[in-house]
Amino acid sequence: MSVVTRFAPSPTGRLHMGHAFSAIRAHDVARDRGGRFLLRIEDIDGMRSRPEHVATIVEDLRWLGLTWDGEVLFQSARLEVYAAALERLRELDLLYRCYCTRAEIAEALSAPHGSVAVYPGTCRHAPARDAPHCWRIDMAAAVARCGDLSWRDHAKVVANDALAQGDVVLARKDAPASYHLAVTVDDAAQGVTDVVRGRDLFEATHVHRVLQALLGLPVPCWWHHDLLVGTDGQRLAKRHGAPTLAALREAGEDGAAVAARLRTGVV
Ligand SMILES: [Zn+2]
Repeated sequence: MSVVTRFAPSPTGRLHMGHAFSAIRAHDVARDRGGRFLLRIEDIDGMRSRPEHVATIVEDLRWLGLTWDGEVLFQSARLEVYAAALERLRELDLLYRCYCTRAEIAEALSAPHGSVAVYPGTCRHAPARDAPHCWRIDMAAAVARCGDLSWRDHAKVVANDALAQGDVVLARKDAPASYHLAVTVDDAAQGVTDVVRGRDLFEATHVHRVLQALLGLPVPCWWHHDLLVGTDGQRLAKRHGAPTLAALREAGEDGAAVAARLRTGVV
């Protein structure tokens, strides 16, 4: 089977070196194996996504010397597909409405709760009412329906830990799908065989593996790479004042040279 990878940025801001590092990793995993590299724009957040950022992302990737195969996929064009997946999960009786505000959840979590802020399940058995709500998955019920949920991170087999993620949101109050649902549906639809992404999404993979099992989707292999850090040990994507790729480009930096440095892990 031919390898298919993807880079899937959100057009909510400009790309940094950390994004470039991840894009190059995904690109090279495919190209080194004669496979296909896809570009997907995760613009499901209509409030924060901006067309001008899409144009900048395309320019940034070209500047780095990356090429992708086929048409760019936009999540904003696929809301009906996510709605259908959500409906399937609803028919399995695994979803419930959550009416909580951020403040209410924060308050419920103020007691010591371990390292992960897990939704406490407040609305799991709440009667339906006419109020703004998101849709959460009853993770314990979901996991109980599935068989083996282990997954592969490159060569290593990882035991599933979706229960520790709690009843995550699958459809938001302000968007018809959450990241978890859209990314899982799209990776399957695009035939992605190898999901290359940062280690910060390692825990999310437990959830995605559950959704694949419930929706009958193929299971890819994951490659969670370390996050790019600066000489001060801080994540470049988060560091205050880290230059965007657009700023480097406009300053006359050579994109191919930047990409070459990123491939050696030195920035
Ligand atoms: Zn709730």
